[in-house]
Amino acid sequence: MKILLRKMVHKVRNFKKFSLFNKLTNWVKSTSINIYCFTSGCCGNEILAILGPLYDSERWGINFVSSPERADVIMVSGTITEKMKPILEDLYNSFGNEKVLIAVGSCAINGGPFYKSDFVLKGVKEIFNVDLYVPGCPPRPEAIINAILKYKDHFK
Ligand code: SF4
Repeated sequence: MKILLRKMVHKVRNFKKFSLFNKLTNWVKSTSINIYCFTSGCCGNEILAILGPLYDSERWGINFVSSPERADVIMVSGTITEKMKPILEDLYNSFGNEKVLIAVGSCAINGGPFYKSDFVLKGVKEIFNVDLYVPGCPPRPEAIINAILKYKDHFK
């Protein structure tokens, strides 16, 4: 009986620690977010624009990182061809357990203007689960920022 009680107390303590840890990570994610960007098309210019002085995305805690291991979110934009599929899969697998993917622009959503081509994927959804879509060809920087902020709000 004593052992059983001890095990129960241990489990409750661990649960409390875990929920506190979850609260802390959620708070961090709601204030700042690390994004790894994979781009192969003209939409990349719009993503670059949000880093510039006009939009200054850092004031909302939006940071772009150069390694997928440090990222909370992967952002995919541009045309995805069959040849690029293994590269993208490698990148995706090097993320942590919580994989969040944002598809930016028509090409990443459904193949865009090249959807009739045999070697172009009809969107990144053909290989991975997509959490957020930002439509447009190209989408405006405001739309990209809005999607990221919506994702951040999810943790509040
Ligand atoms: S969606 Fe349009 S702007 Fe974006 S990469 Fe494709 S063709 Fe270029």
